[in-house]
Amino acid sequence: MRRRAVVLGAVAGVLSGLAAGARAARPPDPDPEPFLLLRHVQTGEVLSSRFERRGRLDPDEARRLEWFMRDWREGRSMPVDPDLLQFLARLRHAAVLEGHEGEILLHSGFRTRKTNEMLRRAGKGAAANSLHLRAKAADISMPGLRPSRLARAARRTGLGGVGLYSGFVHVDTGHPRHWTG
Ligand SMILES: [Zn+2]
Repeated sequence: MRRRAVVLGAVAGVLSGLAAGARAARPPDPDPEPFLLLRHVQTGEVLSSRFERRGRLDPDEARRLEWFMRDWREGRSMPVDPDLLQFLARLRHAAVLEGHEGEILLHSGFRTRKTNEMLRRAGKGAAANSLHLRAKAADISMPGLRPSRLARAARRTGLGGVGLYSGFVHVDTGHPRHWTG
């Protein structure tokens, strides 16, 4: 009996060792209660949101986030893709694990076609069929974190598109791809 207990103990040790190795190689697990702390660069508004309740998008929080990420030039909004909220929360969580405060600065969220065209003509790197038009993209930065590091963290999540620009990082919920603008 004792021998059997020893063998089982050894097997359990190997399994937990493997599990620890697998954890180290993976990007950090998502926050079980995703949280966002956002500051809008253009409007100065601040919003903190725990946008899920028991694993489902909280409709009141979704509305607050929709308005926060509105096209501020036009005063128009569109429901934000929940996967984009998860993407942002994952980035925040990864940054917090590395000792960052976790505040995300929003440079641009939803855009109407009119605003997007204006930015495109001004040479601000807006694509004609940008995912900003469908509230599936955000241009963000984090205070004290170089955009190149933020872009690397965003790519590691594998959650969507990542574009590195001077001063901000574009993230979207399109298929995973990356570029430098
Ligand atoms: Zn963008």
